[in-house]
Amino acid sequence: MQAANKTVVLPNFNTMNTEDYIELEQQYGADNYHPLDVVITKGEGVWVWDIEGKKYLDFLSAYSALNQGHCHPKILEAMIKQAQKVTLTSRAFRNDQLGRFYEKLSKISGLPKVLPMNSGAEAVETAIKAIRKWAYKVKGVPENQAEIIVCTNNFSGRTISLISFSTEEQYQDGFGPLTTGFKVIPFGDAEALEKAMTPHTAAFLVEPIQGEGGIIVPPNGFLKQAEEICRSHNVLLIFDEIQTGLGRTGKMFAHQYENVKPDGITVGKALSGGFYPISAFISTDEVMSVFQPGDHGSTFGGNPLAAAIGNAALDVILDEDLPGKAAILGEYFQTKLQSIKSSHIKEVRGKGLLIGMELHPEAGGARRFCKALAKQGLLAKETRDNVIRFAPPLVISQDEIDWAFEKIEGVLTK
Ligand SMILES: *Cc1c(COP(=O)(O)O)cnc(C)c1O
Repeated sequence: MQAANKTVVLPNFNTMNTEDYIELEQQYGADNYHPLDVVITKGEGVWVWDIEGKKYLDFLSAYSALNQGHCHPKILEAMIKQAQKVTLTSRAFRNDQLGRFYEKLSKISGLPKVLPMNSGAEAVETAIKAIRKWAYKVKGVPENQAEIIVCTNNFSGRTISLISFSTEEQYQDGFGPLTTGFKVIPFGDAEALEKAMTPHTAAFLVEPIQGEGGIIVPPNGFLKQAEEICRSHNVLLIFDEIQTGLGRTGKMFAHQYENVKPDGITVGKALSGGFYPISAFISTDEVMSVFQPGDHGSTFGGNPLAAAIGNAALDVILDEDLPGKAAILGEYFQTKLQSIKSSHIKEVRGKGLLIGMELHPEAGGARRFCKALAKQGLLAKETRDNVIRFAPPLVISQDEIDWAFEKIEGVLTK
């Protein structure tokens, strides 16, 4: 290889402090996030450390991708073992890890068929492709006329088609032309769902609890009603469980609270316990059978490294009964949070360990409280302007919750 004729001078990383790291990122990175200024270098279980050695309790869990905690040893071991064998085959060939991963996902979801992808957004894109093809090939909707009903305040990811049905102005601003074929109803409104149905409706795509939208829990019975409405119109019911799934809300999947049988679900985030981007669309035979070889794919989707990691990540959720832990500790924690006497708090809500604390607008926004909590060693993040999301790894102990509670109460009452 020819030597480069220009010397690149890299910074001396060993002597860099927090400011230096932030500056380096600011100089070369796109400005599409607004992170808290904590530079993390290590994580273990529910704890992370910044480059200056300060320890924090992680109360965001990478938006619920870390249900199993940081660097879970069993998942780490599976990752290293598989990385030393074979990482990527592409789906042009088969690999010896994928079948077991499918089987496990199918058993925990109660749905027979799995299509693996990488990011959550890709899983939802896959669901939309399946929904549309099902509408044309099975239901008999005229070509290009399929409609998908979604809800206000939804979040499904950042691709062009997914932002096309967002109701957040900023998510769409400047990104047109957008994808058509979506109809928006108010979240939790069964009557509006019934009214929105037409002969061209293919699916109702909904989060059982809205995560990014501010931890919004729909009225009790909404999911069951949605199921009945969908059935009576021959419309698919698809749940986006990317944030709510895999134990977060106190059940393996949040829709299980209402004993609903969806036609498909999307999963991602905790599907790898934070080690790797792994997602999947899981569905009935009828829906998945619309895909023929060549219809859809992904170079990395279903690779043996991902499958081995996914397998281990699911084992941890099952072996450590993380849904059960989330249910018990979530209720304990939410009750405690509700007892805080602070004029800033409008409402505390959620299920399991997916909890939102909505503040009154006069409180001056959730971000300042998140900054104050970070100073106290607790990392939480605002979602929307006025909601603080509390979503620690599900491996958290009651003592650690008590510790966090003291900090939260302190920040809100001082
Ligand atoms: C995070 C999230 C997504 C998108 O996942 P990415 O991996 O960021 O693409 C989709 N749906 C829901 C409900 C999510 O919370």
